[in-house]
Amino acid sequence: MFTEMKKSRTTELHFKSDPETGLQAIIALHNTSRGPALGGCRFFTYTDTDEAIHDAIRLAKGMSYKAALAGIEQGGGKAVIVAPKELQDREALFCEFGRFVDSLGGRYITAMDVGTTVNDMDTIASTTDHASCTSKSGDPSPYTALGVLHGIKASLKACPDLPDDLANAHIAVQGLGHVGFALCELLHREGARLTVSDIDTEKVLLCEQQFGAEVADPGEIILVACDILSPCGMGGVIQADTVNKLRCKAIAGSANNQLATLDAGLALHRQGILYAPDYVVNAGGLIYASLLRKGQSSAEINKRIKVIEQTVIKLCQRHKSNGEPTSLIADRMAEDILYGSNYQQCQAG
Ligand code: NAD
Repeated sequence: MFTEMKKSRTTELHFKSDPETGLQAIIALHNTSRGPALGGCRFFTYTDTDEAIHDAIRLAKGMSYKAALAGIEQGGGKAVIVAPKELQDREALFCEFGRFVDSLGGRYITAMDVGTTVNDMDTIASTTDHASCTSKSGDPSPYTALGVLHGIKASLKACPDLPDDLANAHIAVQGLGHVGFALCELLHREGARLTVSDIDTEKVLLCEQQFGAEVADPGEIILVACDILSPCGMGGVIQADTVNKLRCKAIAGSANNQLATLDAGLALHRQGILYAPDYVVNAGGLIYASLLRKGQSSAEINKRIKVIEQTVIKLCQRHKSNGEPTSLIADRMAEDILYGSNYQQCQAG
């Protein structure tokens, strides 16, 4: 565990086990040098504890990098709750999780993530002040979707093989949850052609009816011939050994940790597929949650989310000038902010 913490530069891991409620939770704080860590709480069925720890560490690191590149004065952290086999009392479990968050004294602010809802955040907020995405503040997903839209627009501008505007573009969206569905609505409004997929057939049907979307099987969506693939389901969908089967020209979506491994980013680069890094593109919800807590207006929040477009364009320009994969350029830009510009040289040394 310490080896993994050292490798990822995760500073703290906190564990909570409560037999009364069945709560088994992990909070990973990756970096708090720029402010309290703000990151979602994932409620998920893990095969074992190692998998849950690994997920918490990877997700927390992504939050530090995301906040740094979004220019948000927040650290990176994430919580995972191992979904119990039988959940007796959801409210009691999330109340206890709130106490766990509270015990960190404000160094971690929790938020919604896969498997948690605004209702859960309300429950957590009954036992700690350090919760966002409650019914008072709202679901950040529409803001995440808006950020992804900016990332997609930037990819269209940056990639010469792609149409100039959304009205002529074909976007394949994987996952029609809180973010994916809102994204489809925005894309449809701008006239994009959509192909969609979800394991939940009701969501697919709704997308077909409301946005005239074409439908692909969940196993086929990433192989669809399209301009941009937008992964908005779970992470790990881009695997190095299957990149040669992809028929998109760019990838820009909300799912955290889309690249199964670092090699997957290199494989995309070799294949000539532009990758708009997940933690750059999906920062809209974080920007919203952070700035809302600081009392900023919605006009200011929308302005800051639009910065995602400029960041993706900047990454693409650097990629054109130095030929490096966008995934590595983004990591380096974030590490310069978090650790100073000597960090890369020290690592290489
Ligand atoms: P969600 O749980 O509401 O939606 C996920 C959707 O993906 C569900 O509809 C699910 O059925 C579908 N799905 C799961 N496996 C699939 C598969 N194999 N093929 C097709 N569909 C599949 O989650 P969300 O809040 O919409 O978040 C989506 C992704 O974006 C997650 O990876 C999340 O971590 C990331 N993210 C979300 C936010 C946010 O504001 N909600 C912010 C940043 C990142």
